Amino acid sequence: MTATRVLVLNSGSSSLKYQLLDMRDSSRLATGIVERIGERTSRLKHTALTTGETRETAGPVADHAAALKAVAEELGRDGLGMDSPELAAIGHRVVHGGSSFTEPEIVDDAVLAEIERLVPLAPLHNPANLTGIRTARSLRPDLPQVAVFDTAFHTTMPESAARYAIDVSTADEYRIRRYGFHGTSHAYVSRETAKLLGRAPEDVNVIVLHLGNGASASAVRGGRCVDTSMGLTPLEGLVMGTRSGDVDPAVIFHLTRVGGMSTDEIDTLLNKKSGLIGLCGDNDMREIRSRVDEGDEQARLAFDIYIHRLKKYIGAYYAVLGRVDAIAFTAGVGENAAAVREAAVAGLEGLGLAVDAGLNAARGDGARIVSPEGARVTVAVVPTDEELEIATQTYALVGASHDLT
Ligand code: AMP
Repeated sequence: MTATRVLVLNSGSSSLKYQLLDMRDSSRLATGIVERIGERTSRLKHTALTTGETRETAGPVADHAAALKAVAEELGRDGLGMDSPELAAIGHRVVHGGSSFTEPEIVDDAVLAEIERLVPLAPLHNPANLTGIRTARSLRPDLPQVAVFDTAFHTTMPESAARYAIDVSTADEYRIRRYGFHGTSHAYVSRETAKLLGRAPEDVNVIVLHLGNGASASAVRGGRCVDTSMGLTPLEGLVMGTRSGDVDPAVIFHLTRVGGMSTDEIDTLLNKKSGLIGLCGDNDMREIRSRVDEGDEQARLAFDIYIHRLKKYIGAYYAVLGRVDAIAFTAGVGENAAAVREAAVAGLEGLGLAVDAGLNAARGDGARIVSPEGARVTVAVVPTDEELEIATQTYALVGASHDLT
């Protein structure tokens, strides 16, 4: 029997998301999430797409090991168990791959040690990712585990884009540089955009706008990332649901010296209490739009700040690329909020950018063009699929390594 299934695991600090895919046709067999791991109120929601059945279980799940065991049991109940010979590999999302990982890697002890070494750069995410990998390894030690890094797609950035203008020896000592995140999404969406244009990725320059609760932009030249808006951490760049994005670093000195705030308090302020939620109390763009429609001034200002930043990045990446073939909107906001797309390109006709009101407002599932016919730059909505990208990269690597043996 050929093993064609890939289990994708995305381990967060207190959650474990998973999807089981069949790579013969990239179809999804099962999907689910374990939430609030380590609390009494943990919850597992599992959907078998083979039958359409969804099951929810509540009750304490002590840690990631217990969570993955519970997931394995649920999969087993649907005949999709982790012990199945059809399972080819497990693909893990790993947030920080530093400068070391430019490609996905089959996990061995050296890879684990390197992910561990990168923990100071992603203190919340990498430990959770490591736990996920170690747990999966202990359940199926014979199975290839593949780490797919959020940063890998951005390792092609030139030094001029990746370095901050700070003292070089300090930067090098502490590995301070712009790594970028959401890389699997930017990789997937830039490729799908080329497909939508009917051209090879090598021939196309794309600005990808990944606008979800976290948000980032990237400039992709001929399939390779040349700049992205997130930096050392996901805090830099666009205005996000709860993150500030770009601020003058001196804001932090000011809050320390004048506001008497601790580093942890400022970290929480900028990562969790800023962005849209800090500006207007809501981080859901649907809420914000309906408040704007009702004449709410605070929501209007939050929306305007969000759009202003977005426009600045479109302009910046236009200049970085020199020639832009397409701008792709993706993730929760980018795929669904027509008002955001319209406002982001409003007034940029001089750059060849516009949306067609009818196309932009129309709902649709797949990738679609929303710019007017014959526009110099194609504006597109391209749904992202990070799990599929992780599964595809995992399967490609496992297939390739089998060919070598
Ligand atoms: P993501 O992080 O990609 O899952 O995106 C989540 C965000 O997408 C939510 O916080 C909402 O702000 C936004 N979103 C989801 N659906 C819609 C919609 N129909 N209209 C506007 N925004 C949406």
